[in-house]
Order: sequence, then structure tokens, then C-alpha cells
Amino acid sequence: MFNLIGQTVIVTGSARGIGQSIAVELAKQGANVVVTDIIPGNATVNKIKNLKRKSFFVKVDASKKEEVENVIAETIKKFKKIDILVNNAGIMKDRTLKNMTQEEWQKVIDVNLTGVYNVTKNALLIMEDNGRIISISSVVGISGNFGQCNYSASKAGLIGFTKSLAKELGKQKITVNAVAPGFIETDMTKEISFLRKKMILALIPLKEFGKQEDVANAIVFLSSDKARYISGEVLNVSAGLSF
Ligand code: NAD
Repeated sequence: MFNLIGQTVIVTGSARGIGQSIAVELAKQGANVVVTDIIPGNATVNKIKNLKRKSFFVKVDASKKEEVENVIAETIKKFKKIDILVNNAGIMKDRTLKNMTQEEWQKVIDVNLTGVYNVTKNALLIMEDNGRIISISSVVGISGNFGQCNYSASKAGLIGFTKSLAKELGKQKITVNAVAPGFIETDMTKEISFLRKKMILALIPLKEFGKQEDVANAIVFLSSDKARYISGEVLNVSAGLSF
């Protein structure tokens, strides 16, 4: 339905969770995918190869400049170009600000925000005209959330980054957008207590948690030619959840 045949994609944090679904759904539309993560990504690579698309894994911490430079070099060597970048890698270290350590603040900012700066800046060196940059923000970057000053600041930062970069790259017809998921069932949200989940569920008009594919489907759309006139936007994939 969305023709991405021959497109090269980098998805950060795609060894599991939402990132893995994004990588697989983009491959289903024809894309070749560079899988990157700090944990082994071979399961994702195998899923993509089973779809008869090309894929390889590079171990990279998005917050480390040298490692990011390496993944761009590997992509050029193997795929010659980058058409689509999906900044998905992200972490949470939840605690109220009164109790939050400097380390908990810094680590979340380093991965969620500086990581996006690192990967995007390097990918731009070789991104083709008409490219796509999509970053995974969060509804809490819009509304804030108890115990998430570090995480929500990083996700709000991504929205400012997205809107500014969209203005800078328009000349190259590169679109820059963000997707803001609500509550999606993944390893990241597994740790949240039963009671808190019940409370969150009550705030979701559709009365169900999201699936990884719900986010991936939005990314597929924004990556495609059908979204050529959408840039600088934040697309909520939250079934109306607002904290
Ligand atoms: P997840 O923890 O299952 O997956 C995150 C992936 O990122 C993991 O594979 C992890 O190893 C990788 N990663 C962590 N640090 C990294 C680093 N420094 N460099 C490279 N990779 C790194 O989480 P998820 O739920 O799939 O989340 C994916 C993205 O969606 C994150 O940015 C998260 O903040 C965002 N998000 C998730 C939800 C949700 O409800 N699950 C809601 C809103 C936003």
C-alpha cells in the first residue's frame, strides 16, 4: 500500500519493542533497514530478511558520537544512502524531581535528546533529498506527567527540535515530524504497577492500551510519499490519552 521499495532506513533502538515493529513494518512496504541498538538486534534483522528485504545490525549507543559516526559509515558502505531516519531509542528513569539524582536527569537527556541530535546530525551528512526524519516523542512531552520531569523534558525537547529542523530542511524537501505515543504495551511499560495502569486506562477514551504496530503504522505513513506535504507536525498515537 505504501511503496518504500529501495528506500534505506535507519531505526535506532530497534532490537525490540516499538522500534522492532517500526523496522518490520517499514520492511513490509519494501524498505531495507539498518537495525541499531545497545542490545543484540539479530532477531529484528532475521524478521526483515524473512520478508526478503536487506538488513544488518550495528551495535550503537545513540548518545555516543563516535559510535553513531560508525553506523553512518557502515550504512554508506552497505546501502550507499539514507532516505529515512527513525529516532526511536529512548529510556525512562522515573522519580519525582525532589528525589531525582543528577545522573538520572543526565542519562535520560543524553539518550532521548542528545542521542537524537547525534544521529540526525550525522545522518543528514548523507540523507537524500525528499528524505524523512521521524522522532518518537510522547504524550507526556505535551502534557507532562508525575515523576517524569527528565523524560517529559526530553520528549518536549524533541518537539522543538522537530519543528525547528523542519524549517531548516524544507529546501531539500526533507520532512521532519514527531510521533507522540500514549500508553503502548512494551518492555518499557511492563514495570508500571497494576494500579497505575488501571488509572491510565481510565484516561484513555478508547479504553485499551496501544500496540507496537499502532505506532509503527503511523511511522509507515509519515515515511511514505502520501505524507509529502506534512512537516513540522506531532502526530499523537494515543487514542486520546491526556494526563
Ligand atoms: P523499549 O525499552 O522496549 O525499547 C527501547 C529500545 O531502545 C531498546 O531496544 C533499548 O535497548 C534501546 N536503547 C536504549 N538506550 C539506547 C541507546 N543509548 N542507544 C540505542 N538504543 C538504546 O521501549 P519502547 O516502549 O519500545 O519505546 C520506544 C520509544 O517509544 C522510546 O523512545 C520511548 O520513549 C517511546 N515511547 C514509548 C511509549 C510506551 O508506552 N511504550 C510511550 C511513549 C513514547
